[in-house]
Amino acid sequence: MSKTEKLLESAKQHLYGNYRPAPIVLSHGKGCEVFDVDGRRWLDLTGGVAVSAVGHAHPKLVKAISEQAARAMHVSNYFYNEPNVLLAERLCKIAGMDRAFFCNSGAEANEALLKLARHHFYAKGDTKRSRVIAFLNAFHGRTMGSLSMTGTAKYREGFGDLGNVTHVPYGDLDAVKAAMGPDVAAIIVESIQGEGGVLPAPAGFMEALSDLAHANGSLFFVDEIQTGMGRLGTWFGFQRGTSKPDAISIAKGLGGGFPIGAIVTTEALAGALPPGTHGSTFGGNPLASAAALAVIDILEEEKLVSGARDKGAHLARLLSEAVAAIPEICETARGEGLLQGLVMKPGFVARDVLPKLAEAGLLVTAAGERVLRFTPALTVSLAELDEGVATMRTVLRDLARAAA
Ligand code: PLP
Repeated sequence: MSKTEKLLESAKQHLYGNYRPAPIVLSHGKGCEVFDVDGRRWLDLTGGVAVSAVGHAHPKLVKAISEQAARAMHVSNYFYNEPNVLLAERLCKIAGMDRAFFCNSGAEANEALLKLARHHFYAKGDTKRSRVIAFLNAFHGRTMGSLSMTGTAKYREGFGDLGNVTHVPYGDLDAVKAAMGPDVAAIIVESIQGEGGVLPAPAGFMEALSDLAHANGSLFFVDEIQTGMGRLGTWFGFQRGTSKPDAISIAKGLGGGFPIGAIVTTEALAGALPPGTHGSTFGGNPLASAAALAVIDILEEEKLVSGARDKGAHLARLLSEAVAAIPEICETARGEGLLQGLVMKPGFVARDVLPKLAEAGLLVTAAGERVLRFTPALTVSLAELDEGVATMRTVLRDLARAAA
């Protein structure tokens, strides 16, 4: 029995069954390569689903985490800690905003946005403004609050509803206008719907939403959890246009694999969650903060944000070529920077193709029903992108032959 087989046997008995992981037990990685407990190698173009921004085992990130762990991992929010103060300063600077709150995940960051919106108006005596406009097909997380904003009904099924969220079609400004009202506290949107199938917002949509929200006295929030930290070729997705978010949520790539989430807000919202209204035991701890500081340093030093634009253009080209070469299966390619998707034709299910790709040595993820999603580390090389798409083409070509 191999080590993998033994561990899978135990996993089947002891791990909670809320996921459908591939039968692969990963052990370690280097850059965009990962290896399992029996030594098999894969090319990892998942980047841990847009998390491992600087690749696996980046020496500078490893050093920052190790050195901080040896000093202090946790001090509680009864005190300030240096890495956290420095991180708040850096995040505000790159976001062009003023205040940072820290938590531990994306869902928690969106939960904080939801509470911030409601409490901002409550504190001003406006207790009626508590409704949120969110988008169909959006993904904002799995806690009850973030789930209530998530726009895929099947994720919410069976969990009841916190209520007061109106979901409208993504990209449909008329629907947003129709849903607007004096009770709307905020609009929340992703600049590219990641989980929903790598769907970019139509041109001008973010700006129009921002204007609509503000004209209505509502707040405008952008969920940058998948699109942030340089992945689209700017620090945050909203910075590709001129929309004016009042707050953004960040997680995933922020810690490069170390769990951390954050919201960054304008000064106008600085008092919306006064002491006692919100918090997190682990949020803002020095270890996660040191990791995030190192990630920002690496992204800057290695020019990975502008690099994501250039590498993304290369990946987009490769995917378009694959679409042209295998029209029996491929419908289109879409995305921006290093968040790209290959959309398969109706009838093909992305999740079913993943095991075949993994067998051929390539790891990617599925988004929506029919999209193979590429979210590699921003450190990925052009040669690795070439290798990944070539492997995918071989697998899809075989599939097309089998289906013929
Ligand atoms: N928001 C977006 C846009 C996401 O892509 C995700 C995760 O995929 C989340 C929120 C939830 O983040 P987490 O899984 O860290 O709670």
